[in-house]
Amino acid sequence: LPQKYKGSEYTVWAEFIDLALKYKPLNLGQGFPDFAAPAHVTKNLAEVAQSDEPLLQQYTRGYGHLRLVNVLSKIYSPLIGREIDPKTEFITTAGAYEALYSAILGHTNFGDEVILIEPFFDCYEPMVTAAGGKSVFVPLRPTKTNGTIMSSDWKLDPVELEKAFNEKTKIFLLNTPHNPVGKVFSKDELEMIAGLCKKWNVLVISDEVYEWMVYEPFKHIRIATLPDMWERTITIGSAGKTFSVTGWKTGWAYGPAHLIHNLQVVHQNNLNSINTPTQEAIARSLEEEVARRDSPDCYLVSLARELRGKRDFMAKFMTEIGMVPTIPEGGYFMMVDWTPLASKVGLAEESDKYRDYKYAKWMSKNNKLQGIPPSAFYSEEHKHLGENHIRYCFIKKDETLQKASDILKTWA
Ligand code: PMP
Ligand code: GLN
Repeated sequence: LPQKYKGSEYTVWAEFIDLALKYKPLNLGQGFPDFAAPAHVTKNLAEVAQSDEPLLQQYTRGYGHLRLVNVLSKIYSPLIGREIDPKTEFITTAGAYEALYSAILGHTNFGDEVILIEPFFDCYEPMVTAAGGKSVFVPLRPTKTNGTIMSSDWKLDPVELEKAFNEKTKIFLLNTPHNPVGKVFSKDELEMIAGLCKKWNVLVISDEVYEWMVYEPFKHIRIATLPDMWERTITIGSAGKTFSVTGWKTGWAYGPAHLIHNLQVVHQNNLNSINTPTQEAIARSLEEEVARRDSPDCYLVSLARELRGKRDFMAKFMTEIGMVPTIPEGGYFMMVDWTPLASKVGLAEESDKYRDYKYAKWMSKNNKLQGIPPSAFYSEEHKHLGENHIRYCFIKKDETLQKASDILKTWA
């Protein structure tokens, strides 16, 4: 293994997907819906597959299928408050993963520093390392220990944040709504981050794959809309999240042409182009959402409404059994403090280093309920900060969530 991948061999996903295959638990681990994708979206893909237009089965434009980048521009231009050029200011990618990869590889020089907020979506760190960069970590800290805890109660310490910046800092990687905490960064928080990025001339990569999953009264704010931030921000989205089709692995990035250019260079020397049929189907589906943008049926707003009830249901049964949930303002994960029930968990039966791993594995084997241990989302030196929590996914059928509740209530 080359040096740039040393230390990146382990991933929580491979381990926990295998664990799920072995013990067949009720799976609230890896984030994906267990219900049907919207019918118009799958119908569009079926129609594309059977279309008598032969070119729909062939390579498409490398930087993004035109019909898709055109509709993405229609959606984001009014949200950002400027005309975003579909050809030079967008790129479509193999999921948000490839957008992150192209953005990080395309903007990091050897020795550059990249600031990551902990907990962080786990692939960020190995991508930075592979690019020759150095990750610098700033943890979100829970500021409340009793009463109802919201994800907004997890905060950056302004002093710690400021200390992370220096002349080597190249990129600030933001994730809002946040995985796994569910935090939707407030205007004040984004202004604080933007101020430091402007002061130190730092690029922002903003991972906004959960942009449509924000629960009232909270509002998603795109950092690219803050004063003088468009010029220094690359924003990332995902069709997998937007349309509940995570297996389609289709994503995008947008930003000013001079920043997107670097992603295009990485992409053209990696995949060159991504698959045509999913891009065409997503384009058609987004066109339909644009046409009903103000209707409550628009999927870009109806999904969040549906998820909010699921979130509240999960928070309620977790509280009833004595665990302490952090109620997320966005995304589809819930961080739950499991330690009030620690005496019921066979921690000694598991050999893992961190207690959240012991809890997660013991529960998968003995109670057939799977979550993800959040210490996987921390740097080595901060993993202990994740140990008291478990991440559960709630984009599941009501009956699946009811079963999870039954499992926990029978046990606790
Ligand atoms: N960023 C975050 C924060 C995520 O949770 C995910 C989930 N997979 C991704 C990026 C990657 O998205 P995709 O499935 O489109 O590659
Ligand atoms: N984003 C999803 C999660 O956090 C999927 C992760 C993955 O497939 N690697 O669960």
